[in-house]
Amino acid sequence: MDFALSEEQRMLRDSARRMTEKQIEPVLFSHDRNRPLPKEAVLQIFQILAEEGLTAPRLPVELGGSGMRMLDYGLVFEQLPAVVAMGLLGQEVTVARIGLESEREERQRFLPDLIAGRKICCTGTTEPDVGSDPRGVKTRVREEGDSLVINGRKMWITNASVSDIILVTCSAGTDANGRNLLRRVVVERAASPYETREIERLGLRQGHLSDVLFEECRVPKENAIGRSGDAARLLTTTWNGNRPLIGLMAVAMAQRALDAAIEYAGVRRQFGQYIGKKQLVQANLADIAAAVETSRLLCYAALAQIDRGARANGISAMAKRYATTASLQAISLAMSVHGAMGISAELGLEELFRNARMLMVPDGTNEILALIAGRELTGLDAFHD
Ligand SMILES: Cc1cc2nc3c(=O)[nH]c(=O)nc-3n(C[C@H](O)[C@H](O)[C@H](O)COP(=O)(O)OP(=O)(O)OC[C@H]3O[C@@H](n4cnc5c(N)ncnc54)[C@H](O)[C@@H]3O)c2cc1C
Repeated sequence: MDFALSEEQRMLRDSARRMTEKQIEPVLFSHDRNRPLPKEAVLQIFQILAEEGLTAPRLPVELGGSGMRMLDYGLVFEQLPAVVAMGLLGQEVTVARIGLESEREERQRFLPDLIAGRKICCTGTTEPDVGSDPRGVKTRVREEGDSLVINGRKMWITNASVSDIILVTCSAGTDANGRNLLRRVVVERAASPYETREIERLGLRQGHLSDVLFEECRVPKENAIGRSGDAARLLTTTWNGNRPLIGLMAVAMAQRALDAAIEYAGVRRQFGQYIGKKQLVQANLADIAAAVETSRLLCYAALAQIDRGARANGISAMAKRYATTASLQAISLAMSVHGAMGISAELGLEELFRNARMLMVPDGTNEILALIAGRELTGLDAFHD
């Protein structure tokens, strides 16, 4: 077993870091840190990411993607600012879902603009009454001649307010056993308008998280992708990839907090000495560093397991749950090392803390992830009787 990155992986990681510093951060810094970015800024960033193949990393080359290994994607993803990483995840996972589940004609209709970063997309599954149990979605789709008509409301949808395309998880009724028949439908906003409203929230405030309303929203029948009833399986596959990626977002934040705490401990003096000389401050730094290292390794291990084609439900759930929890604690400890400066807006640790807390919810709350890991360990399902 070799824990070192290959030369190629180091180059990939370092070039992603340079892209962030030279091209992406200047766009973020030129806008209010507490307001959602204007759509033009998001498109500008997506076009930078598109140049590196990051708008379709999970889509094979023959389907128009860049077909990256998940671990390599994770190494790059970890270098992106959190708000950009979250928006990118919303975009590229939707591209992957459309690309893997639609026919050639539909792929060609929707994907080129999304992969090039000329259009923005998102996936809408969560609803006001449907969160952790997506199999219960209520947004209805019905057939009418050559059209599908959608009615319902989605909530907490990344990228939705600036989106041109939304992939909506709908209910097409129930099967013979009374189970909800999920169906995925692509809605193009220009042709089939839907309403969105940005939601005020704790962190990731330059990003977009919105309500979406569909009222008699009519789309061509061909916009339904995948086989009816297949949507739940596809959701699980993509969630397995998303979870360690979100874990790595948390790791990146904890790493920044660690770097800041080490620096501060080396310049701040109390009782006539640098605080970094105090054993308890060193213990805090050691705990933060341990959280960063263990979380990162677990997320990399989960992504590598996906690359090997092995079942990754348990380790992916564990990786996100562990990394988001450990990183939030690590950031809090780094705030402690800074004393009152830790809670000042000036230093940015409070923003890291707010942003990191956001990561405990999407793609499985910590409770849901514990139940998934528990199911893998015991073979017993806590979700259903
Ligand atoms: C930053 C962010 C981005 C998001 N992006 C998207 C997106 O792009 N698309 C999308 O569709 N959704 C998105 N979401 C929504 C997210 O997927 C849901 O919020 C999440 O699945 C939880 O659903 P809920 O908020 O309705 O909580 P609920 O499901 O109502 O859960 C409430 C509480 O009950 C607990 N709970 C629920 N069931 C159980 C159980 N069986 N056992 C133990 N505890 C349980 C939960 O853990 C939680 O603590 C996003 C959310 C956030 C915060």
